[in-house]
Amino acid sequence: FNKVDILGVQVADVSFEDTIDYIVDAVKNKEKTSIFTPNINLLIAAHKDQQYKDVLNTSGLLVPDGKPLVWTSKWLKQPLTEKVSGSSLFFKLCEVSAQKNMRVFLLGAAPGVGDIAKQKLEKQYPGLTISGTYSPPFGFENDPDELDKIVKLLQKSTSDVLVVGLGAPKQERFISKYLKAYDIPVSLGLGSSIDYAAG
Ligand code: UDP
Repeated sequence: FNKVDILGVQVADVSFEDTIDYIVDAVKNKEKTSIFTPNINLLIAAHKDQQYKDVLNTSGLLVPDGKPLVWTSKWLKQPLTEKVSGSSLFFKLCEVSAQKNMRVFLLGAAPGVGDIAKQKLEKQYPGLTISGTYSPPFGFENDPDELDKIVKLLQKSTSDVLVVGLGAPKQERFISKYLKAYDIPVSLGLGSSIDYAAG
């Protein structure tokens, strides 16, 4: 995909459909990749934090989450095709996962929320398997035992897609750091999508 540099972050010129196809292909080919959905606030955060900018730029795909990114790209005379919102992506991903038997793990949100999301999503998309849910405790990112536990849980779940809803920048940092440690082809940072799904 073509990329547009916005504040030093390489945002891909992808449509919503392109993004779904990218995920399905990566699962099919067992290619490990990460997808993040930067909005303008995230780009500003990255602008102030080189390490976080590197985390974003070394991901597999950065989709433009929000109209302001599309407007900015037009102003830069490198127009992005359309916005790809993280929450719409999440629901479409569940629909496609149901059709293609892709197992989806939900990591993040408050205790119990993931299980409610699992119940609702599996009902809404017949055939969908939410392969596991887990709500990491406060401060997990600085607790090696907890991180080890999370990686083992992901590994045991034999999932195809990992949806991480830990908020930015935690979710992107987690994926970037631990992607190699678990055997799940596609990891996405999807903010509060698990909350939305739980209603
Ligand atoms: N969250 C979490 N653990 C954390 C921090 C956040 O599970 O340590 C969850 C929170 O419960 C919510 C999601 O991350 O479901 C998104 O949080 P937030 O609204 O802060 O992120 P944003 O959507 O603004 O990126």
